[in-house]
Amino acid sequence: MYDFVIIGGGILGMSTAMQLIARYPQARIALLEKEAGVAQHQTGHNSGVIHAGVYYTPGSMKARFCLAGNRATKAFCDRHAIRYDSCGKLLVATSELEMERMRALWERTAANGLERSWLSAGELQEREPNITGSGAILVPSSGIVDYREVTAAMARQFCEAGGEIRYQAEVTQLEERDASVRITTREGETLEGAALVTCSGLMADRLVRMLGRDPGFIICPFRGEYFRLAPQHNRIVNHLIYPIPDPSMPFLGVHLTRMIDGSVTVGPNAVLAFKREGYRKWDLSVADMLEMLGSSGIRRVLRQHLRPGMQEIKNSLCKGGYLQQVRKYCPRLTRQDLTPYPSGVRAQAVSPDGKLIDDFLFVTTRRTLHVCNAPSPAATSAIPIGQHIVGKIDALVAALPGAGRGWTRAAHPESDVGEAIK
Ligand SMILES: Cc1cc2nc3c(=O)[nH]c(=O)nc-3n(C[C@H](O)[C@H](O)[C@H](O)COP(=O)(O)OP(=O)(O)OC[C@H]3O[C@@H](n4cnc5c(N)ncnc54)[C@H](O)[C@@H]3O)c2cc1C
Repeated sequence: MYDFVIIGGGILGMSTAMQLIARYPQARIALLEKEAGVAQHQTGHNSGVIHAGVYYTPGSMKARFCLAGNRATKAFCDRHAIRYDSCGKLLVATSELEMERMRALWERTAANGLERSWLSAGELQEREPNITGSGAILVPSSGIVDYREVTAAMARQFCEAGGEIRYQAEVTQLEERDASVRITTREGETLEGAALVTCSGLMADRLVRMLGRDPGFIICPFRGEYFRLAPQHNRIVNHLIYPIPDPSMPFLGVHLTRMIDGSVTVGPNAVLAFKREGYRKWDLSVADMLEMLGSSGIRRVLRQHLRPGMQEIKNSLCKGGYLQQVRKYCPRLTRQDLTPYPSGVRAQAVSPDGKLIDDFLFVTTRRTLHVCNAPSPAATSAIPIGQHIVGKIDALVAALPGAGRGWTRAAHPESDVGEAIK
């Protein structure tokens, strides 16, 4: 019998595991991951940006956790000797409409408590000779890291503290009982846990459904396709270069990202994926497709975003269309500069009335907690999210009849977050 079982070996599962064992040092904790190692899905297929917290609704969990997570991630990397670079980010406007949107973003960055500077076209040109725009916002605290390395370090810390990780353990059944949660894997192994946390990304709704509950949302997978610039362009930009986003669209737009290995990627776009873990253009799962088309929420999303959705598909199929989006602010790039790079798939929760759920979302039952919506900037926010989950587990444990039996809490568990999100 375990005290806690965590499902999912991405950055959120590992951050939770690391902080839960610090909080309950004597507890028996297991983490189950269906793949052979950590960070095989969203965490290992992202842009690697340590976001600053520019875009998010002031006061939302995304805004608060991102701001705290930016500092916490860098502090964690310092302690574990993981390379990162606080290279800063430029949000570049290329038209009068984007200048107007940039003014609104300027206000939002103030409301979110960010340090930033307003750059004229000339100042932008001075900092970034290869970038063209009418103006830009400079956010110095944005940075880059490899989240696979961060997740691996969290896993090591969890194991060193006595935690147990089981790979290739796909959970296929869950049953919440009076005295425990019963967890069964594809191999037929059964575990009991007093409490359960699921951080299962693209499978979040399916894990809730395994408990016999209606999750109240469905995960819609959006593939994000990248190119890598040819190596001669590794120094083409000094910062991360982002377009000014269209506020009616959920994703940030194709950006130029300096990666921690020295290369520069372009992307990601956002194309509806025909398979939840489908990383190639033509990956298709009939079961996943039928599930999506059977969802009134996803059908509404498709109807509402029909034109931009078709445009994204067109640009995905035609390199020229993709290139055009980048050439708006980096005109010197050509088709030959774009070389292949692996895609990622985002897990976006959609409500039955067709809304893309914006903020992070957690659902609890008596003995379980589920991370239901954790899109970007959840990698940046992983440490505060883990801390938030541990706080919720504290409350859940206090309400259980067995509370206190051997679950000693550390009085002052080590925290990378400090006061920032209290
Ligand atoms: C293209 C792209 C770009 C992004 N860029 C950024 C960025 O620059 N900065 C940022 O902060 N965020 C970014 N994000 C978001 C960020 O990557 C995710 O929010 C974050 O990685 C989510 O972590 P997770 O642990 O919830 O999910 P995941 O990393 O997807 O992990 C979930 C894990 O659960 C496991 N699992 C699922 N079902 C089961 C089961 N039944 N049994 C056992 N295991 C199971 C999976 O195998 C997986 O390992 C990006 C995301 C994408 C896709």
